Amino acid sequence: MCGIVGYAGRERAAEELFEGLKKLEYRGYDSAGISTCDRGEIFTAKRGGRVEELLPYLKALSGTVGIGHTRWATHGEANDVNAHPHACGKFSVVHNGIIENYAELRAELAASGHQFISQTDSEVVAHLLDFYYDGDLADAVRLACARLKGCWALAVLCADFDGFAVTRRSSSAILGEGDGYFAASDIYALCGRAHSYCVMEDGDIAIVTPRGITIYDCNLIPVKRAFEQLNEEGEEVGTGDCPHYMLKEIRQNARTIRATCNKFSYIPNLPALKKRLEDSDKIVLVGCGTAYNAALAAVRLLGGAYDCPVSAHIASEARYDPPRVTEKSVCIAVSQSGETADTLRAAEIAREAGAYLIAVTNVGYSAITRIADKVLPVCAGAEVCVAATKSYIGQLACFHLMASLNNIGVRMSELLKVAGGVEDIASGGAYARVIAKLCVQSRAVFFLGRGVDVDVAVEGSLKLKEVSYIFSDGYPAGELKHGTLALVDETVLSVVLICDEALAEKSKNAVEQILSRRGKVAIVTTLPHVYEEFKGRVNASWLLPPAPAHLSHFLSSTALQLIAYRAAVLAGRDPDKPRNLAKSVTVE
Ligand code: GLU
Repeated sequence: MCGIVGYAGRERAAEELFEGLKKLEYRGYDSAGISTCDRGEIFTAKRGGRVEELLPYLKALSGTVGIGHTRWATHGEANDVNAHPHACGKFSVVHNGIIENYAELRAELAASGHQFISQTDSEVVAHLLDFYYDGDLADAVRLACARLKGCWALAVLCADFDGFAVTRRSSSAILGEGDGYFAASDIYALCGRAHSYCVMEDGDIAIVTPRGITIYDCNLIPVKRAFEQLNEEGEEVGTGDCPHYMLKEIRQNARTIRATCNKFSYIPNLPALKKRLEDSDKIVLVGCGTAYNAALAAVRLLGGAYDCPVSAHIASEARYDPPRVTEKSVCIAVSQSGETADTLRAAEIAREAGAYLIAVTNVGYSAITRIADKVLPVCAGAEVCVAATKSYIGQLACFHLMASLNNIGVRMSELLKVAGGVEDIASGGAYARVIAKLCVQSRAVFFLGRGVDVDVAVEGSLKLKEVSYIFSDGYPAGELKHGTLALVDETVLSVVLICDEALAEKSKNAVEQILSRRGKVAIVTTLPHVYEEFKGRVNASWLLPPAPAHLSHFLSSTALQLIAYRAAVLAGRDPDKPRNLAKSVTVE
């Protein structure tokens, strides 16, 4: 989590870094800070709160070299002191990740006279650099990192040096060249500023100056790393016509389905992938949050297409209780960013046990792509809102295509057709507003469905709670009478999804059970007869465009994303930056 940036060039660094931080703020936004260096002096401004808080201090930060940070606190509350950069002697440091052995290092350094002022794990890095510094920045970084356990991306400013150092282990760091030289946690910060980028390898130490970038390995042997053109992501910057990224990104759902289909047809060796899936003794999927919910949908899709058992696992659990795999198994790691620490580790464990690893990810240069045997791209483009929307839709599209490798043309045309319906839903919104208002007026919101609708209910509930903070749960409609019905009264809303004709009668029973207990009900359905039957009897009903049950989740999840978005706005929340959350969960 968190974003780091670095700049060395001819322009004033403070403004460059501020712009970079604003683009990375979705990775963490509880505090922010910048250090610049000018003729041997380091200037620092840092504050608890959003990146904007730094604006009044930028003028005082002189120099054309600097580093910056937007934080998602892991150790120590979000306040001015704990904000990065952290300083010691000639050093100023920003850190993304967790230093697991910080307590023992801190004790050791304190014993030799170092005084700590923050509660963070990161401050220890600045003190270690000071401890090891002997006039050579790169060497101090090498020696300090050799003492660290955990994960990190670090940018280090040294008063003696006209430039900065960057290094990483298990947290992402990208270098950029353009009008000046850049470092950042992800490519998004470089858009519009760099023309090419390079993904640092674990252990690399880069020295970035206004004159260029030199990269060394962890033993300070110079290494060559490829720089690639930075192009398409540039178009994603900004919210366009929409007030928030979340709405903009929901409106890109249809585009994501089309782009994912298009890219899929160019994936090399699809027949070999098909054979691998057909011959596998089991398929296990690992993911967290929304990606895990997409994996639930994959279980139905892949389970219907291949003979072997298919299961989905929450990655943070799978790390410690790994699904049993063999050399004939396939593990599918699902991660929007491709950097999710728990998913990476669960995938590594499966791979070490012999499984063939497939990555389903939205970020082509991410860590998961480097350990995977096969990468299946989700072409959502940059997703800036912390709550995943279009990437979930893209993951669903990818699983549909994986499930129909026998007959991919037919499935693609179905997907392209359903994309039209998705577009219609996303560009409207009157029904979403009505249901969102009911959500905001309710003590709790339950999302219910059967079959394919269960997965949508679970994801719809996650979406609502993460952006609106309204208590919510999603589960199978048949379970209602086994416990949750006890909570239903006139203050509770149940959003009932009915998109599978074969299960509609049973789902209607759940609606009747709720109405009999005076519970509030909103129906979301693709079935006109269900809509007609309940219209006027329930608090709200939304008829979606028609679609076969196996494709309906594209429509119903787009509808639930919009409801969550509208509820967040009505409740006065910032849907793009929910409290306590951040994008790219690179810590465990
Ligand atoms: N562990 C560090 C802290 O809590 C860095 C967290 C981050 O990656 O934002 O300050």
